[in-house]
Amino acid sequence: MTPTHHPAEDFLVAYAAGTLPEASSLIVATHMALCPDCRAEVRRLEALGGALLADMPEAPVADDLLASIFAQLESPQPKVGPIGGDGGLGVAVARRPAKASARTVIPEPLRGYLGCDLDGVRWSKVIRGVDEVSVPCGPAGGGAGPKVRLMRIRAGTAMPRHTHGGSELTLVLSGGFSDETGHFLRGDFVATDGSVDHQPVADDDADCICLAVTDAPLRLTGPLGRLINPFVSF
Ligand SMILES: [Zn+2]
Repeated sequence: MTPTHHPAEDFLVAYAAGTLPEASSLIVATHMALCPDCRAEVRRLEALGGALLADMPEAPVADDLLASIFAQLESPQPKVGPIGGDGGLGVAVARRPAKASARTVIPEPLRGYLGCDLDGVRWSKVIRGVDEVSVPCGPAGGGAGPKVRLMRIRAGTAMPRHTHGGSELTLVLSGGFSDETGHFLRGDFVATDGSVDHQPVADDDADCICLAVTDAPLRLTGPLGRLINPFVSF
């Protein structure tokens, strides 16, 4: 089944140009693992970028360029440690989507970041019916950057109604959910922000597993949510 909700074109252009932040790059690459259409589009954009570079006028070359290249070749090489210092997983991995095997719930590159498929995930309860696990992503495993989390919403569970302090990118990996804007299934990519006030509800027939990238906390907007807002950190 091919996804029907895709990242906006400007996301794919930024991805192809290698300018997306790591967390966004990870979620776009994981979508691409499930989406032949976006894989083809990014290949087209990369070819276009290559053609544009080839058409650029040649820059003048300094007279001593050759000497300086030879000098660099002769200088001692720096020691090469584990790539990225994060166990070998970094932006380079995020930018190389793999085709998902039908048997794996969590495709590469996300699986490499998590270090396991779904059966190895150690969930923490957020609220009743909703569990999460943080996905280490970025130089300090998250730090002040966006939060990258795998969420599990139990079948039939309604998330608290909320809006967003910033942007929220969601990729469905298993099951599905609905909100005021549509119905989303495996591979679907959803981008929302502070202009969207919604209440996602997991489908009745299976738990919904999603990857979520948020750059600011959610703001609960339901009558009960407004009361508990200060105490909940999504
Ligand atoms: Zn797509």
